[in-house]
Amino acid sequence: MYDPDLITGTTVQYYVTCKREAWLFAHRISADQNDENILMGRALAEIKEEKQLEDFAFSNLKFDKIGKERGHYVVTEYKKSFRNPEGAKMQLLFYMYLLKKNLKLRKIDGKVISGKKVLFVEGNEENMRMMEALLEEMSRFLDEPRPPKPEKIAFCAKCGYRNYCY
Ligand code: SF4
Repeated sequence: MYDPDLITGTTVQYYVTCKREAWLFAHRISADQNDENILMGRALAEIKEEKQLEDFAFSNLKFDKIGKERGHYVVTEYKKSFRNPEGAKMQLLFYMYLLKKNLKLRKIDGKVISGKKVLFVEGNEENMRMMEALLEEMSRFLDEPRPPKPEKIAFCAKCGYRNYCY
């Protein structure tokens, strides 16, 4: 089995978007470093640092902010766009799942913010069980010796792994 401790929020986001991308990323195959989206991501990370958002690193977690609202924890992640809401949601849920489990929190919720749009992610039992099952599935999948074949999807056009696929 692929070591579940090596799974990051980015791997989860890729997995729910394109399994091939997740496999390539998890096996440390470098995406095109000059790709526009990778450059944008890097620039956004620099802006975040300049604004000194409350960074909180826990194990392999790297999200933007954690705070308390109405007595329970809320994790916040900032995105440059809502192009991939499912990926953003699952990445945040992954952070929430690990925090809840490792810090034995009673309740945790999350939100993804992009400009004026906010996506709320509930940390209820159903979502936590879904994440647990997803991580088990990912560990088995990432243990495969080869990635699945490329399948053209809308995200291919802006994917840093395009050169490995088409
Ligand atoms: S180019 Fe498309 S198929 Fe290839 S890894 Fe990226 S999203 Fe997946």
